[in-house]
Amino acid sequence: MKKKIIILGGGESGVGTAILAKQKGYEVFVSDFGGIKGNYKDVLINFEIEWEEGGHTFERMLNATVVMKSPGIPDAAPIVKQLIVQEIPVVSEIEFASKYADAKIVAITGSNGKTTTTMLTGFILEQAGLDAGIAGNIGDSFAKMVALDPKELYTLEISSFQLDGVIDFAPHIAVLTNITPDHLDRYDYDFDKYIASKFRIAMNQTADDYLIYDADDPVITAWLEEHPVQSRLLPFSLSKKLPQGAYIEDNTINLTIDNKQFTMKTQQLALKGQHNTKNAMAAATVSNLLNIRKATIRESLEGFQGVEHRLEQVLKIGNVQYINDSKATNVNATFYALDSMSAPTVWIVGGVDKGNDYRDLYPLINEKVKAIICLGVDNKKLLEHFGNMVEIIVETPAMTEAVKVAYKIAEKGDNVLLSPACASFDLFDNYEDRGRQFKNAVRNL
Ligand code: ADP
Repeated sequence: MKKKIIILGGGESGVGTAILAKQKGYEVFVSDFGGIKGNYKDVLINFEIEWEEGGHTFERMLNATVVMKSPGIPDAAPIVKQLIVQEIPVVSEIEFASKYADAKIVAITGSNGKTTTTMLTGFILEQAGLDAGIAGNIGDSFAKMVALDPKELYTLEISSFQLDGVIDFAPHIAVLTNITPDHLDRYDYDFDKYIASKFRIAMNQTADDYLIYDADDPVITAWLEEHPVQSRLLPFSLSKKLPQGAYIEDNTINLTIDNKQFTMKTQQLALKGQHNTKNAMAAATVSNLLNIRKATIRESLEGFQGVEHRLEQVLKIGNVQYINDSKATNVNATFYALDSMSAPTVWIVGGVDKGNDYRDLYPLINEKVKAIICLGVDNKKLLEHFGNMVEIIVETPAMTEAVKVAYKIAEKGDNVLLSPACASFDLFDNYEDRGRQFKNAVRNL
């Protein structure tokens, strides 16, 4: 009998999985509780894949071999519960696609820095001329790439939701950038469950595989002590000298793997900020493991242009630098943004607060921030926390006003930084929309 896959969710990972499954001879049915976007519908029609939208027809799913659940759908969704009762395996796209990828996999997860580290690593591999692709949470889905543009090597950005649905997935090289509380609503507000989810990246690794991680992150190190992994550990640190792995001394990255060494001055790194130095150490470790020439690694780390909406230098106007860090949707990301400011900063912050604890930011605000512009529907918490910390704190209802006010306040040599520490959906479609509106407003000054 033909194998049958049910795909819940008709977005990037759902449609990618549908293409791959069809190619591999499955009977495929895509079911979306909401609407499926027009471009994805066109693809499904093109590939002659059956689909439904606006609800799930449970009866059509009963004899499925496997279910692929898109990462946006929680385990608590009624349809998922019903399928689990039927004992049909529910997996993520990464799990499904990796079975058909005859390739080496570098998998990158963490609370912050996933996209930057993935893009940076992918860039080095591309510069080295390897047959390598970047996929996962960014750009094309992994499944689609495996089906239509297969590679020998993949650098994958992987979210905790993708990891929740893995069973056998075993990357040869895993990177764990950091773990701070995020998405706790999907983990019963239990931080340990979220940590456990992130560590699933190493769950099926063997002694021939590698786990690269931030040794300065107390959550990661404490967890590893209690829950050892099989893979070989290659940590990185800004503060500790490490016999194996990467660390910083005299403004230089020192990386050791067995008896191989790699060094590079941090000043030469294209991406600024302590957090990006960590991301660069992670990417350099991956690249060295893949035996890429040191000169290529250095040149790539020097030449990388950065990723949109992550500490993106927008324009300098009247000697004031405007910086778009719209992707900072939590406090930890904003911490690193403020930390990397080397000039007095007018800080635009606010949006949908996900239970933020702002206290970690106090020292940086005292040191770096001259004025705060609150940009959210509800700014009460920001005003309470920061009202007494800076001389100027104002509320603005929209991005154009926020940027105009920043322009008035900022003086020669200052920075204007959009790093909201909050989600964007009170005033914007998403963080990309927020970042673009910021850039447009700056360009229109
Ligand atoms: P993710 O894909 O995990 O959301 P991004 O690379 O898109 O990560 O960066 C998200 C935000 O976190 C940006 O504001 C960025 O400046 C910040 N950031 C990047 N790398 C790190 C890191 N290693 N630690 C903390 N924050 C980081």
